[in-house]
Amino acid sequence: MKYTDGKNIMVYAQSADGAPVGAALETVSKAAELAKANGEEVIAVVFGKDTDTKTVITAGASKVLVAGEEGLPAEEKAQILVKLAEKYQPKAVYMAGTPEGKMIAPAVSAVFESGCVTDVTGITADGVYTSLSYNGNVLNDMKMGENLPHVATVRSGSFAKKLDESRTGEVIAEDASADTVRTKVVETVKEIAETVNLEEAQIIVSGGRGMGSKENFALVEELAEVMGGVVGATRPAIEEGWVSRAHQVGQSGKIVAPKLYIACGISGATQHVSGMIGSGYIVAINKDEDASIFDVADAGIVGDVTKILPVMIEEMKKRKA
Ligand code: FAD
Repeated sequence: MKYTDGKNIMVYAQSADGAPVGAALETVSKAAELAKANGEEVIAVVFGKDTDTKTVITAGASKVLVAGEEGLPAEEKAQILVKLAEKYQPKAVYMAGTPEGKMIAPAVSAVFESGCVTDVTGITADGVYTSLSYNGNVLNDMKMGENLPHVATVRSGSFAKKLDESRTGEVIAEDASADTVRTKVVETVKEIAETVNLEEAQIIVSGGRGMGSKENFALVEELAEVMGGVVGATRPAIEEGWVSRAHQVGQSGKIVAPKLYIACGISGATQHVSGMIGSGYIVAINKDEDASIFDVADAGIVGDVTKILPVMIEEMKKRKA
């Protein structure tokens, strides 16, 4: 299975309900920039015959391979990607650093005995990968070994999505399928199916344990609503049952990169911060002036969230009126 001579970049363009997710389009756009610098091309892979291939082409893919179905388990998608990589022999396979991408990437690299880097925030045309480790506290620059394809998951928000309607590309139906599937999707429960588009959100208002109660957490939801944003949360807020797990931001939740992140009653633990440090502008509200969330905030308000949030909500309502 191993090969050491390959060219072009393969990107798994993950989709949801037939639409490529933003982080996948960011990955295709970055791959297109790198491929162009080396006189190569981007070969994207989408799952599901109804998936929007046109947008993947406008993001920079010159070939889009259509295989399987969108709802396949990660295990099956990984096996199909392996077969397509064997056929097209790319020098690299990239995908968005979503929970699914992070399951697929190591499974692909293990087959080829090639390197795999996760949470990539930078890639150079000559193959230097910058990635985050230790919960985002350390940036590593690394090169991978000689076995190809190099596999990487790209951290959402690290690269710009560059759509160009004038781009053209070829759509190719592939009949590759998985050989041995040990995973069976028995049921998709609502909790998992709930779509909270945190990764794509431009504004996120997040609440932590400092919100104090489910009733108070409703202030976070109201502020998010009046600001046209999405609700995020820390793990304790979820464990308290104030909001569903789909809203969790952080190491074991979603990695987000909105333009504005408002952290309400959040201490700033590294497991939370590693998921939101890529935000454009961070506002923190905490009654403890020494809370470590202020170390990463662009603006801080020291005070009680139950007093400050109602004022912010009223102010936003006035501005909208
Ligand atoms: P706390 O740390 O309890 O902070 C509450 C803050 O609210 C305090 O700073 C306090 O001063 C402030 N406060 C209290 N009352 C008020 C008030 N009235 N007004 C204003 N401020 C007030 N956490 C995540 O969030 N996401 C993850 O993905 C995640 N993954 C984890 C994975 C692992 C393996 C482990 C071990 C932990 C993980 N955690 C995660 C938990 C993480 O370590 C922290 O415990 C958590 O982020 C703290 O949440 P918090 O800030 O809401 O609560």
